[in-house]
Amino acid sequence: MNINQIEPIARLINEFSKLPSVGKRTAERYAYHIIRASDESVKNFAESLLNIKEKIKFCDVCGNYTEQTPCAFCRERDKKIICVVKEPKDSIAIEKTGNFKGQYHILHGVINPLAGVGPNDIRIKELLTRLDDGITQEVIIATNPDVEGEATALYISRLLKPLGIKVSRIAQGISMGSELEYADEVTLSKALLDRKEI
Ligand SMILES: [Zn+2]
Repeated sequence: MNINQIEPIARLINEFSKLPSVGKRTAERYAYHIIRASDESVKNFAESLLNIKEKIKFCDVCGNYTEQTPCAFCRERDKKIICVVKEPKDSIAIEKTGNFKGQYHILHGVINPLAGVGPNDIRIKELLTRLDDGITQEVIIATNPDVEGEATALYISRLLKPLGIKVSRIAQGISMGSELEYADEVTLSKALLDRKEI
């Protein structure tokens, strides 16, 4: 008899092993940590899991995570410049540079024909709607510097150019194929400042 097969333990190990980068051994360590932890700390942990699903939603305007929509960025920040990123975590990377004071737009993906993701599958329509009021003067495209990120940048720039909006791309200080979230703040800051019109 393997104690990992006792139903409640097996179930918890199974749940932990669904988390990104968590293998079976780590999932087991987490499960045994929970068994040893105090009732109160386990209760807090369980409540925070339920709470996040209840409280966190997507901003109707920019698509970022928020407790209320429109989010604080959309309510309080300057709409003259909008920075377009692939995922919410990329907005955190840009925000850490401290050099960007505009609003964000989260695409929730990039164009990737091989994976069957076309322009209509990401939040491009929503971006066009946001530009309707004519306030925005520049859109900075900060998708990752990989093939899909570049194709998406090009696609968006072709859509926006005829609207008379300046479209720029973060500079290639970040090496090709790397991801925004792993770029250090100085590099990303420089990539943002050295952006080029496309
Ligand atoms: Zn928002």
